[in-house]
Amino acid sequence: MIDEKQISEIVRKVMSDMKPEDKPARKQIGVFDTMEEAIEACNKAYEIFRYYNKEQRENIIKEIRKLTHAEAEIMAKLAVEDTKMGNVYHKTLKHHLVADKTPGTEDLETKALSGDRGLTLVEMAPYGIIGAITPSTNPSCTVICNSISMLAGGNGVLFNPHPHAKRISAYAVDLVNRAVLAAGGPENIVATVANPTMETSNKMVNHPSVKMLVATGGPGVVKMLLSSGKKAIGAGAGNPPVVVDDTADIEKAAKDIIDGCTFDNNLPCIAEKECFVMSNVADQLIEGMLKNGAYFINSEQVRELEKVVLVEAPPKKPGDLPKKVINKDWVGRDAKKILAQIGVNVGDDIRCIICETEFSQAFVQTELMMPILPIVRCQTFEEAMEMAVKAEHGNRHSAHLHSKNVDHMTAYAKAIGTTIFVKNAPSYAGIGFNSEGHTTFTIAGPTGEGITSARSFTRQRRCVLVDSLSII
Ligand code: NAD
Repeated sequence: MIDEKQISEIVRKVMSDMKPEDKPARKQIGVFDTMEEAIEACNKAYEIFRYYNKEQRENIIKEIRKLTHAEAEIMAKLAVEDTKMGNVYHKTLKHHLVADKTPGTEDLETKALSGDRGLTLVEMAPYGIIGAITPSTNPSCTVICNSISMLAGGNGVLFNPHPHAKRISAYAVDLVNRAVLAAGGPENIVATVANPTMETSNKMVNHPSVKMLVATGGPGVVKMLLSSGKKAIGAGAGNPPVVVDDTADIEKAAKDIIDGCTFDNNLPCIAEKECFVMSNVADQLIEGMLKNGAYFINSEQVRELEKVVLVEAPPKKPGDLPKKVINKDWVGRDAKKILAQIGVNVGDDIRCIICETEFSQAFVQTELMMPILPIVRCQTFEEAMEMAVKAEHGNRHSAHLHSKNVDHMTAYAKAIGTTIFVKNAPSYAGIGFNSEGHTTFTIAGPTGEGITSARSFTRQRRCVLVDSLSII
């Protein structure tokens, strides 16, 4: 006979062995039906959190890192399921990267000025409650990365995530709250809505409790936040070119470019989107790419593929010409599935579609966010650099180069003026993946904060004491 105590022990054991996604639905912490409720709850939590010292904030961040590592794969799977984009293995790596390399409170530095007339301190203080809009391409990574940075800065956070990533974004908000509670912090210091819409976004943006806004996404959302009248950080679109000159290690360049371009099926905004190569090494580069999982399509197939991955957007105003834009159904999808649409059937080893095109071709000019890499042959390095600058469209986002010539490195970096400039490595080195430097999933080119971290989400406060405490 099993007694009641044994039954409850068995139930407890089964429940604790279950993966979170299999557990019966419980109310997620920090996820509300309306934006008004989310704002009220976040405000209440902030009234407690604003008195937390750095050690208390850091204890919370430690728990967020721990839970992010523990649930990285669960989130990666849910993100792919929710958004139908990306690659589970790469998304798992991205979550570990966020947990390991997003700076915490150590990023906040106090400046002290002492002299004959006393002591002045400049400290990095919270803004209060930050309203953050997050993308579908890196949904949970952005929620967690923003949460670590913004909580480290002493702020509360409201999220209005992309509607196509609402389940995974809610999961991440709940995870952050679970971590906060485990560290003894206040519930709902990070909050969101279960069904984000433009209406909930507007409510968040315009609410007087929201003191700072952060947009991670395409040009529409950045423009909207920058015209809000509030302090805003904009992390916008890119179209990163990669240039290869004839001094580069071509074998390595080919592998690095395919590795970067196919990472999470090209969803990262930093990923290589078009390639400009000097013609004397172009054949060797293409050959190297073919050895690394690329499939070459000819010009007729390029035209077929254009019909699949691009659609005609209706003119915005009368008189405008129709414009080709990406077909969102194919963003972040596997190369194999995209190729099948033009009747090419390949194995799982194929991870990238490559082709040779003219500079003006749509794949070069458009931020596709698909594992498709157009390659343009150039006679000289100068021509490649000039084309790369034009293809980046002044986004000031990311650019990459394979070269051993420091003059080329310098000239290209100066000409393109991007926030991130990676040399002789896959593009993801630009966010601290297998490289030096911290990570972020909010790269603020338009407003200049760059590779954001806790300090980006603080404001300076000056504390002055006259004629005392300068002890020399
Ligand atoms: P998206 O612009 O469609 O959506 C981003 C967010 O903005 C979503 O939450 C969406 O609901 C909201 N949004 C979109 N238009 C809006 C508007 N007019 N008003 C208010 N909210 C609006 O982007 P996405 O497809 O999810 O992500 C891909 C884009 O984001 C790419 O352009 C990519 O380069 C960019 N991105 C940039 C960074 C960066 O750090 N700079 C990081 C990730 C993605």
